[in-house]
Amino acid sequence: MTKSDVICPYCEQDRVWRVALTPSATDQYPHAFCYECDTFWENGDVIDDQTGKTFKFYLEERGQKLEYGLIKQGPAAEPS
Ligand SMILES: [Zn+2]
Repeated sequence: MTKSDVICPYCEQDRVWRVALTPSATDQYPHAFCYECDTFWENGDVIDDQTGKTFKFYLEERGQKLEYGLIKQGPAAEPS
């Protein structure tokens, strides 16, 4: 890990990654995700301990079931 890694503010166990969701995935990775605790930050949210939600909750808000296969991993998130 380097100084510029963003460590998950919820679990402090892993870095946060930029992700896209398939099938809408493009070359952009608009969201952020912690693979350790399943916290998801939607579309450019500031990554802090107030703005995340669980991936399951994010999908349920959209009437979708939890499916990790939707996540396409991008680069490590950078500090905002
Ligand atoms: Zn986490």
